[in-house]
Amino acid sequence: MSQHIARKRFGQNFLQDGGVIANIVNAIDPRDGDCLIEIGPGLAALTEPLLERISHMHAVELDRDLVTRLQNQFSNTQLTIHSQDALKFDFLSVDPEKKPRKVVGNLPYNISSPLLFHLADFTPNIDVQVFMLQKEVIERMVAAPSEKAYGRLSVMLQYRYEMEHLFDVPPHAFIPAPKVTSAVVRMYPRPVSQLQATDEAHLSKLVAQAFSQRRKMLRNTLSGVVSLVQLEACDIKPTARAEELSVADFVRLSNFLVNNNE
Ligand code: SAM
Repeated sequence: MSQHIARKRFGQNFLQDGGVIANIVNAIDPRDGDCLIEIGPGLAALTEPLLERISHMHAVELDRDLVTRLQNQFSNTQLTIHSQDALKFDFLSVDPEKKPRKVVGNLPYNISSPLLFHLADFTPNIDVQVFMLQKEVIERMVAAPSEKAYGRLSVMLQYRYEMEHLFDVPPHAFIPAPKVTSAVVRMYPRPVSQLQATDEAHLSKLVAQAFSQRRKMLRNTLSGVVSLVQLEACDIKPTARAEELSVADFVRLSNFLVNNNE
């Protein structure tokens, strides 16, 4: 096959480190009967070893040239290729009868946050996700309140998932090498009963507004949305900053406002 030149606009950094590849395959642990979906198979660095462990899987790839290569490399019975944008892909549309539903990928870094939010719409029906991302993004995903990296991404993803930062991956594990260090995260949906927002769209708006000026006090960032009395009724100090609130605090505040205000 002709050589493929990596395309920057598709976030293409191809994995070439066998040890890292094996660790990602082990982290998702594919088994026959699973519904396994890979995002961005690229030149099949993960797809090939995944298919040594499972007889059939799905892959979603945006780059048409890569889709053609994959179609030549694998039979339809092994790999169902969806020549689509993962940001628009319906992750529940394939093999609805199969369980567990697992999603894996060395994600295109240029779309990682919107892709994580798109996937969050399918929880709790995706049972586990394992992704390579920029290390800095994973640090934001798993950060605790008052840590520098704690923000909207931390709150909204921790609301939905339990997450483990599994290991770091240096730039030389890829061709071409990215400028940043990468890492691998595993994400499990939280049981619905643990922390339930009455209105998730309201929670999402409230968190975005609270973090819009993260160094300012909530009584300023949320003025017009919540009164001092309401903050106190939720055991939240009006002088606190968004970065000091836990996920449970945000859910409690959002539920209080939805149930008492609107
Ligand atoms: N899995 C391969 C590997 O580990 O070597 C390639 C990983 S590369 C970082 C990201 C892959 O995602 C590329 O194959 C790229 O073409 C694909 N991609 C980029 N944007 C995409 C999108 N919106 N939907 C689906 N695939 C996309």
